[in-house]
Amino acid sequence: MGKKKIVIVGGGYVGFEVAQKLDAVADVTLIEQREAFVQPPAAIRSLVQPELLEQIILPYDGLLKSGRVVRGRAVSVAEDAVTVENGDRYVADYIVIATGSTYAAPFKPAGDSIEDFRQTSADVAARLKTAETVVIVGAGAVGTELAGEIASAQPGKKITLISSDDTLFPMYPAKLGANLERKLKKLGVTVVLGQRVQDLQRLDQPYEGSVTLADGSEIAGDMIFPVIGSRPQATLIKSLPGVQEGTLGRVRTDGWLRPSDYANVFVAGDIADVGDGMTIVATARQNPWLVKTLKALVAGETVEKLKPYSPWKKAPILVPLGPIVGNSWLFTTVGDRITRMMKGKELFIPKYRKAFGMSARAK
Ligand SMILES: Cc1cc2nc3c(=O)[nH]c(=O)nc-3n(C[C@H](O)[C@H](O)[C@H](O)COP(=O)(O)OP(=O)(O)OC[C@H]3O[C@@H](n4cnc5c(N)ncnc54)[C@H](O)[C@@H]3O)c2cc1C
Repeated sequence: MGKKKIVIVGGGYVGFEVAQKLDAVADVTLIEQREAFVQPPAAIRSLVQPELLEQIILPYDGLLKSGRVVRGRAVSVAEDAVTVENGDRYVADYIVIATGSTYAAPFKPAGDSIEDFRQTSADVAARLKTAETVVIVGAGAVGTELAGEIASAQPGKKITLISSDDTLFPMYPAKLGANLERKLKKLGVTVVLGQRVQDLQRLDQPYEGSVTLADGSEIAGDMIFPVIGSRPQATLIKSLPGVQEGTLGRVRTDGWLRPSDYANVFVAGDIADVGDGMTIVATARQNPWLVKTLKALVAGETVEKLKPYSPWKKAPILVPLGPIVGNSWLFTTVGDRITRMMKGKELFIPKYRKAFGMSARAK
């Protein structure tokens, strides 16, 4: 008997890793619309260090040894197959949908073109270099890191980071947000808290203009970055029978990450509303569960007899402000040294390059 067939849609943090880990035990097909994986955490620093960009664009060619990566956009999912835009149909015993999310430019590629992403990142980096005033709207991890990267690499710019919350990282113990706020101020960043921007003109890319805050004050910027969160791409999965919409446009699942009436179709990552955030940290918990579960299914077990997925109670978070300083919450708040070692210095670049069969650093 041949190996069981697993089709995975989306080669992001979920798809590439789950495909690679199952490659030896199943007949794996990974369907991905782009020719390369891109690492968003390092896309932030690429704006102040443009030469980094080529290091974080990782072609899928070397990913799988036995299975295959199919370049194409999946357009429909049936119980036993996934169909791609050109009409090709990939038959499956098990299907994983991990179509992830989009983000405002220039932080993640949009659509199927890596070349457009390269160009957009380079354009924004060039504009940023000459900008004197920068306004960042949204102080989640991306906005906060962006403020830190710009302030540490290009001191002298007037940078304003705006949040509608009263503290930075309000979901975490107060020490994390307070320490990050203090370090940002030390880097020269103006942190405006508790103020919702009333008139953000674009959600898709940075622009020149001004923003009005709830108190009526106005802040002008040579560059205004909209950084207000990920938008899940769940259209494909929402067409399946029995799917229920969850929060923020994600889809709900049962205990085994199944969102529909099809017992063999799983979801994970940014599209899955399972109690985790839209983070790589979430996929670091979901992927091993998914791999273990699919290995057991391939070996003949039934899903309901396997342990259901349990989300992070409170997920750790690493927030570098450039390569040297930062803070993290790793079940306790930690400072510069650990944040630098775990993320700030290398931004996981060697880890992902190696996973894609490349040297740890570009030659
Ligand atoms: C700038 C930035 C920095 C971040 N930094 C961090 C961080 O430091 N730590 C952290 O924990 N999280 C971070 N995140 C969040 C993290 O990037 C996401 O949570 C993660 O990418 C989700 O992985 P995923 O596999 O669900 O989806 P994605 O990574 O979005 O991948 C989805 C893939 O599916 C493909 N796809 C979509 N639709 C189709 C289709 N129909 N057919 C074929 N392919 C399709 C896409 O091309 C894409 O490759 C960051 C996000 C951004 C934007």
